[in-house]
Amino acid sequence: MISDLVIIGGGASGFMGAITAISNGLKSVVILESTSKVLEKVRISGGGRCNLTNSCWEISDLVNNYPRGYKQLIGLFNRFSTTEAFDWFQKKGLSLKVEKDGRVFPCSDSSEDVIKCLTVVAKKSGVKVFTNSHVKKISLLKEGFTLFVKGNNQFNTKNILICTGGHPSGRKLAKSLGHSIIQPVPSLFSFSTSENSLRTCSGITLDVQIKLSVNKKKYAETGAILITHKGFSGPAILRLSAFSARNLHANKYKGELRINWLCMTEKEARGKIDLYKLENGKKLVFNNKPFDKLPKSLWKALLSSLNIDTQLKWADITKYYKEALLKCLINKTYLINSRGPFGEEFVTAGGVSLDEINFKTMESKICKGLFFAGEVLDIDGVTGGFNFQHCWTSGWVAGKSIALKS
Ligand SMILES: Cc1cc2nc3c(=O)[nH]c(=O)nc-3n(C[C@H](O)[C@H](O)[C@H](O)COP(=O)(O)OP(=O)(O)OC[C@H]3O[C@@H](n4cnc5c(N)ncnc54)[C@H](O)[C@@H]3O)c2cc1C
Repeated sequence: MISDLVIIGGGASGFMGAITAISNGLKSVVILESTSKVLEKVRISGGGRCNLTNSCWEISDLVNNYPRGYKQLIGLFNRFSTTEAFDWFQKKGLSLKVEKDGRVFPCSDSSEDVIKCLTVVAKKSGVKVFTNSHVKKISLLKEGFTLFVKGNNQFNTKNILICTGGHPSGRKLAKSLGHSIIQPVPSLFSFSTSENSLRTCSGITLDVQIKLSVNKKKYAETGAILITHKGFSGPAILRLSAFSARNLHANKYKGELRINWLCMTEKEARGKIDLYKLENGKKLVFNNKPFDKLPKSLWKALLSSLNIDTQLKWADITKYYKEALLKCLINKTYLINSRGPFGEEFVTAGGVSLDEINFKTMESKICKGLFFAGEVLDIDGVTGGFNFQHCWTSGWVAGKSIALKS
């Protein structure tokens, strides 16, 4: 028997592709999953809550969250974007909520409910799911393909949708059918630094402006960072790591991070310091700060890094120390010496080259009948639900095009 469509990989993009294809008229749709459980990444995502999309509804803003693939995603999002994904899940019975920062979660705060939604809808629609079915080889037939599954099983199919995520086996299958692979490198990680002046501030989160230079390439972000016991993490750092993923990898994760702790211009900060000095001359610099939002422990750590005397009064601060303090507050440099641990989420930057995909259909330009969706492609997003969104979008477009062409 020959299936209409076999999907390799039972993850987010695979399930969206399968459900869309079968609900648009395909008769026989099969998912082959290597492991014993489908949707395992959905289960562990968002700390077990699954941040499945984001309330960034404007496509022009949405694409800015994708360091790789943003151009191709414009067309795809015009067909199935955050609004459509949100409605899709709600219509399938999964209640969703939007958090203050725009991240979308199931109201139950349980990723199990996302899994339940996708598996129940797939089953009801007639999608056949085979677990413990690792696809090791694909060969071309005159019309269609044969898939060779570990344990000597074979499947014949008219179309294949490869949805193997960041797993190397999917890239290997794509390569065996003539596709170029952009070298996979990690994305969404924290930064480690050997500088230990901030160790006492570990656990503090604050809004800052940060600039990273790696081998003369410059990246900038403004947002929340978390001081960790080894360096820096938090949304703005993870975002920076995503946009600089390739350059940092090429530079062995060495770079120069500049932090403006105050999010102020030099003129504004200087004005505040001068006024404070004038009005608080008798007070100790260590215990009294002109900047309310700056946490006390960070203020003290920055002063200590400059070797400022703990008994120094504001009236006695010299020009040299005032200038050093100003620089430390608005333009402090930290040397990044390695990649720190991943945050709650991580993805692979790299994968099947986008030049070889027709983004109207997600079909390969090299091999007719072969389609791709999800993280296996050289597309990835920052944290906030953007990675799953790209999986829902590319899975939906692929499923729909396969159904319409058949
Ligand atoms: C810890 C963690 C937390 C995350 N949290 C979030 C989050 O909250 N929000 C967000 O947007 N993104 C999150 N992500 C990223 C998100 O999980 C991925 O972008 C997404 O799962 C990719 O989906 P996919 O369908 O492309 O691949 P996957 O979900 O990785 O699915 C691929 C499937 O293919 C199977 N497979 C691989 N090779 C073969 C083969 N040869 N034969 C058969 N099956 C095969 C794999 O076993 C796997 O089940 C997180 C990632 C991690 C690691």
